[in-house]
Order: sequence, then C-alpha cells, then structure tokens
Amino acid sequence: MKKRVGIIGGGIIGTATAYFLSQYPDAEVTLFEKNSIGSGTTAKSAATFCLIDDSVSHEFWSVRLFGFNFYTGIEKKNPGSTGFEKTGTLTVCPYREYEMYVKQAIALTLASDYQAEYWTDPEKIHQIIPDLNLEGILGAGWCPDDGFFDATMTANTLAKMARENGVTIYIGTKVNEFCLTNGKVTGLETSKGHFDFDVVVDASGPWARHVAQLVGLSLPIWHTKAEVFILEPTEKLGYNFPVLKYPRFYARKDKSNVFICKSHQSMDLNDPMHAGFWDPDLLPMTGGTDAYFWDFLTDELMQHYPRLLDASIVNEWVGYRAEPPDFLPVLGPTPVEGYILAAGAGGNGVIEAPTIGRDLAAYIMTDDVSWYIARLPLSRFEKLQYDETGRLISRPGIDIK
Ligand SMILES: Cc1cc2nc3c(=O)[nH]c(=O)nc-3n(C[C@H](O)[C@H](O)[C@H](O)COP(=O)(O)OP(=O)(O)OC[C@H]3O[C@@H](n4cnc5c(N)ncnc54)[C@H](O)[C@@H]3O)c2cc1C
Repeated sequence: MKKRVGIIGGGIIGTATAYFLSQYPDAEVTLFEKNSIGSGTTAKSAATFCLIDDSVSHEFWSVRLFGFNFYTGIEKKNPGSTGFEKTGTLTVCPYREYEMYVKQAIALTLASDYQAEYWTDPEKIHQIIPDLNLEGILGAGWCPDDGFFDATMTANTLAKMARENGVTIYIGTKVNEFCLTNGKVTGLETSKGHFDFDVVVDASGPWARHVAQLVGLSLPIWHTKAEVFILEPTEKLGYNFPVLKYPRFYARKDKSNVFICKSHQSMDLNDPMHAGFWDPDLLPMTGGTDAYFWDFLTDELMQHYPRLLDASIVNEWVGYRAEPPDFLPVLGPTPVEGYILAAGAGGNGVIEAPTIGRDLAAYIMTDDVSWYIARLPLSRFEKLQYDETGRLISRPGIDIK
C-alpha cells in the first residue's frame, strides 16, 4: 500500500518537497495551497543564490551547492524555467572577520569547480561597480557563476514536475483542521473536504506558527520583516548590476532598477521594529515599509554607494521571514506523530528548499535521517534561554558589525 503524504503550502519549500517525494513510486502525494503556487513569501523573495554567501554558513556548504546545482540543472534542461540570471556576486568586505569568511567561501567555490577570486585592488572592484565608495574596505570576493532565480517561477516549475510524476495539487484550498486519532495525524479537513493521510508535512512558511497551533504545538518561530525597495537610478547605471553583498544589506538588479534589502543576519529578534508574531494574511502585496528602513538604507548608501541616494523608489514591499532563534530551519518529526516540519527557512528558503525537500522525502519514505535533519530538529529548542527581562539570549552565528 502506498504512503499517503499531505503537504500544506505551495511555496518553494512545499513544491520542492512534493517534487522529491514524487520520485518514490510508493508515495501518494497531495499538496494544498490556499492561494496560488509561489504566492506567499516566495513571491516577495530576492531569490539571490550566491556561492560566496554570508547567510548560510559554511557548515551548510553542501546545502548551498546541492541547491545551486539542482536549480541550474533544471534551467539547463529547460531554459527559462527558473528565471536564472547569471549576474555574478560581488561581496564587499569591510572588516577582517568577514573577509576571512569570504576567503573560505572562495576556497569552497573553487573546490567545487566554480570560479571565484578575492580582490584587494580597488580598480578591479570598480570594474564591476564603478560607483562604490571603497574607503575603509579591505577587498571583495567575486564569483561570476551565480546570480538570482525567479522564486515564483521556480516553485511553479517544481509543481509542474511534481504533477507530471503523479502529485495532486489543489490550489485555492485551505487546510482548516487536522484529524487526529490517539495523538497521531490521520487526515486533514480542507476547504475542499476531508482527506486521509499517513503523514502531513507543514511547509506553510510564516503561517507555520498558526498551522502548528491546529495540532496544539507552539513553534519557536518569529517573523522578521524583510523590507524591500526597488530603486530607479536618476540616470541609467550603464553597467551590468551583479548581486552586491555587504554584511548589513544586499542588492540585485530588477530589470533596469535595483532591488535592495536588509540582510536577514542583521535582524534582531528582540527588536520590535525587526521582529514579532504577526498575521501573514494581513500583509499587503506592496507597500507597508517602515521609516526606519529608509533611515537604515540612507546610512548604508551614504557610506558605500552614494550614487543610489538620488534614485526614486518605484516599488516597495514587506515579506515575513519565518525565523527560529538560531536562524536555521526546523525539520522533521514533532511530538505529534505524523506531523512533520519543513518550516522556519527564514531568509534562505530558496537556497535550502532542494535539500529540505530531498532529505524530508527520504526520511518520510525510508526512515533515513540525513545529517541535515539530525542537525535541525525541533527538539533543539526545548531549552530556549531567556534573560531575566524575558529577552531571548543572543543567537549563535556570525556577528554583523
Ligand atoms: C524580501 C525577501 C528577500 C528574500 N531573499 C532571499 C534570497 O535572496 N535567497 C533565499 O534563499 N531566500 C530569500 N528569502 C527567503 C525565501 O524567500 C523564503 O525562505 C521562502 O520563500 C520560504 O518559502 P516557503 O515555501 O517556506 O514559504 P511561502 O512561500 O510563504 O509558502 C507557504 C505557503 O503556504 C500557504 N499556506 C499557509 N497556510 C495554509 C493553509 N492553512 N492551507 C493551505 N496553504 C497554506 C501560503 O499561502 C503560502 O503560499 C527572501 C525573503 C524575502 C521576504
């Protein structure tokens, strides 16, 4: 008999999981998406995928590499299906610790047969972006092979590939309740009726806090605000704009404009301007940015990229990143039998989706627990630490100066 697997959420994580599950002949997979495929956080994403990346640490290099090879493999087979733009990435290093991290990333990139270099010569860096102010800068890493994807297009491509392998996808279908027998998940009540399942995967992104409450679990997942401006320079830039990374912000091209965002590593879960628990259904598709974000960006641009200060803001929006305290996903089993998490991908869900999907599919179908799932269980938060005022004690990771 086939294993019946339900997936809640048709973002990049839910569709990747559906695709990998569809590789198993014994899986009968059904995905529910209450809106349309890739319309949640995935639609608001920058979807940058940098081999020299400061947000998914080197411990997870194989996650970065597998994800990049997976998406570019799909793009190669079916050009245009992931919206990949190979712009390259320039990662600028303002301090030693960051420089060391970037140099390690370059070594890993080269060892994986991609190109990367570290430059200290300002002329070299200015060949990529002539307008950068390089005062006080130590150097920059350059990788010409990476860039960004279109996350919504990629999620739809993965959904199509999953459907071709027999997955049933219901769009416009909301999961309202779980059915439990003796504490085990046995099915879902949805806006299109009842479905029986052996296992349910929660891939509902920032909605996961709400979905988990349906089975009586409280997830340690915060929402951080990912605020975005699309800037139109007063005069055309006149050069190919790469992914540009600084420790506190990043940018990429958006047609002839610039998409600019605060880096997720610089968010503070204890700062109510950055993080909280909100209702993602109340988030508008565009608008809603805070004044602090413009102040933050003005300071950064003044220091690093003054030319962009007279650009006009032609679009803006806010997305909620689903962030656990260590800014890493929460994967695998929970205290509720049959309820599996694929949640908390925060600011890296595009990068992480292929590994999450591959490893969860293997876990569900073969009981194989990969090192990635073993590293990121929900149980790691059993003893969350707070200080005497109730603030979460600072998370591990790279310190952003
Ligand atoms: C501005 C911004 C920039 C980003 N930049 C990058 C980047 O450069 N690189 C990177 O890797 N990541 C980036 N991210 C993060 C990445 O986009 C997310 O981690 C990823 O999209 C999360 O995907 P998901 O599938 O978990 O969630 P979502 O895309 O939010 O999907 C969850 C889906 O579940 C559905 N759903 C919820 N509840 C129910 C229910 N009850 N029934 C049925 N369906 C339900 C929702 O409608 C939604 O479509 C960025 C995010 C933002 C906001």
